[in-house]
Amino acid sequence: MAHALLSPSSAYRWMHCPGSVSLCRLFPDESSEYAKEGTLAHAYAAHILDPNQPKPAEAIPSENLTFVNDYVSYVERETAGGIRQIEFPVAISEVTGEANAKGTIDCAALVGNTLKIIDLKFGRGVRVEAEGNLQLSVYAWGAFQYFSLFDEIKEIELHIFQPRIDNIDSWKFTPAELETFVNNARACAAKALSYLNADPLPPESLIPSADACRFCKAKSACPALRQNAAEAVDFKPITEAGEAIPIIPEEALSPEKLGQNLILADLLEPWIAAVREEAHKQMLEGVHIDGFKLVLGRPGNRQWTSAAEAEELLKTFKLKENERYSYKVITPTAAEKLYKAGRIGQRQWPKLEQIITRSEPAPVVAPESDTRPAWTPAAQPTDFQPVN
Ligand code: SF4
Repeated sequence: MAHALLSPSSAYRWMHCPGSVSLCRLFPDESSEYAKEGTLAHAYAAHILDPNQPKPAEAIPSENLTFVNDYVSYVERETAGGIRQIEFPVAISEVTGEANAKGTIDCAALVGNTLKIIDLKFGRGVRVEAEGNLQLSVYAWGAFQYFSLFDEIKEIELHIFQPRIDNIDSWKFTPAELETFVNNARACAAKALSYLNADPLPPESLIPSADACRFCKAKSACPALRQNAAEAVDFKPITEAGEAIPIIPEEALSPEKLGQNLILADLLEPWIAAVREEAHKQMLEGVHIDGFKLVLGRPGNRQWTSAAEAEELLKTFKLKENERYSYKVITPTAAEKLYKAGRIGQRQWPKLEQIITRSEPAPVVAPESDTRPAWTPAAQPTDFQPVN
C-alpha cells in the first residue's frame, strides 16, 4: 500500500505548511538506523501485548527490550479492565480527504467511558508532548468511530510513552473538542490537497517553522526554508562603515536579539543538517561537490572478534582472575527489572530505593509554549545590595 500523503505522523507538517505535501512527493521515503530501531521496538511491544501480532525475527538489544517492557507494563496498567486493540488500523480518509487512507495506532482502548490512545515514541532527539498532539488526535478520531459502537465515549486521553528520555505524558479532552479539531484538520487537508497540482506553488503555501520543517523530507531543497535561512544570515551591520567596532556588541547580546536568534536557530539547524545529509548521500553516490571531499572518520571502539577466544587466551597468560575479568554491580534500572520479575522481594526493593540517586536535571532553554513549568535560577548573593 502506498504511503499516505497526509499521514497522521506528519499531521503537524501538513496542517502548518500545506504546500509541503506537494513538495514532499518529489523525495523518496528513506529509513534511518534510528527508524529501524524504533520499528523493531514497536514490533516486540506489539507481540508481547498481543501474541497474535508477528514475533520479530531480529533480536533486540537488551537495553531496548527493557524500554519495551516498561511500555508494556504502562499499557497493561492504563488499559486494565478495558477493551484493547494493539497495532490497530483505522480509516482516516474522512479527515484527510485521501481515498482509503489509514493510520495504525500502537494501542487504542476503551476503559469505562474513556477512549485512550497510547503511542510509543522510541526517539530521544525531540520530547513529544501529549497536549494537542495532532498525530494522536487524528488516531483518536479513527478509534472513536470503532469504540463508540461498544459504549458512550465521554472523554479522550492521549498518552505519549517516550522511555529513552523518561517522558511519560498524557492529556484529556472531550468528544466535542475532538469534533472541533477534526473540522480544522479537514480544512487544512483540503488546502494541502488543493496545492497538489499547482506548479509553481504560491508563496503562501510554504510556511517554514521549526516544528513543521524538522522532519520534512523536502527541507534540503525547500525554497521557502532557504529564503528564511538567507534572510536570517543577512545581519545588519552593527556599526556604520569606518566606525570603531565595540568589543562586546551590546545589541547582539540583548535579550530581544537573543530571542530572535533562538527562533532562527531552531529553523536553521534542521536545514543545515538536511543540507549536510543530502551532500553526504550524493558524494557517497560519487557526485563531486566543489570544495568538498569525503574522508574517513575515526575508527570504532576496539572489541574482541570473539569474547570466548579472548577469555581462553587470557587464561593461558597466568593472569589472576580479577585481572582477567571486570565485575560491575548491576544498575538501578537492572535491579528494578529484577524486582518487577519477582527476583528482588517487596521488602528488599525499598532498601535499594533508598540508595538510588540521580543527578539533578540541568536547566535547558525551551520555547514559551513548552508545557513543562518554567525554572527560575535561585537568587545569587550578588543580586542583593548591602544594607547600610
Ligand atoms: S521544509 Fe518547511 S517550509 Fe519547506 S516544505 Fe517542508 S515544512 Fe514546508
